[in-house]
Amino acid sequence: MTTPYDVYIGIGSNLDDPVAQVRQALAELSRLPLTQYIAASRLYRSRPVGPQNQPDFINAVALLRTRLSPLALLDQLQALEQRHRRVRRQHWGPRTLDLDLLLYGSEKVQLPRLCVPHPELQARAFVVLPMAELAPQLTLPDGAEIATLAMTLADANALEVLPDYT
Ligand code: AMP
Repeated sequence: MTTPYDVYIGIGSNLDDPVAQVRQALAELSRLPLTQYIAASRLYRSRPVGPQNQPDFINAVALLRTRLSPLALLDQLQALEQRHRRVRRQHWGPRTLDLDLLLYGSEKVQLPRLCVPHPELQARAFVVLPMAELAPQLTLPDGAEIATLAMTLADANALEVLPDYT
């Protein structure tokens, strides 16, 4: 049996009841093959990146432990996106479900279909803050500390944590 990897999945939605989309995605991630569900962050509300004439996003990050290869995991994530009938008419436009493979252990992957760590990871408060909530001691493969990034990101205070009952 191969050694499992701790992987972080970024989840985002701003269409068709985004809170429900994110909650359902978390439930579905907990059922992936060869994969153990470890924890999820709280839900966060963020302003859209790019075009502003679209609803706010709901974001969360899940921590899983998997024996799936990086590409097999990406296949699973993309199948899940399709099941949510993901709508994606424009780059950075609204979508029912966006799943990003943020980190795969401390591995670096550079393939046409997959780049890990996710290239935008360190620039996005809606990724960094939930990751820092889940794993405050985490150090990224390039040596950056997630807690330090969380304190230094300029747009961090534009994020809103959703209360548990929403
Ligand atoms: P987007 O919808 O903007 O998240 O982009 C999806 C595309 O990015 C897909 O074609 C993926 O194959 C590719 N991709 C590259 N790296 C990643 C990653 N780390 N996580 C998710 N998708 C990725």
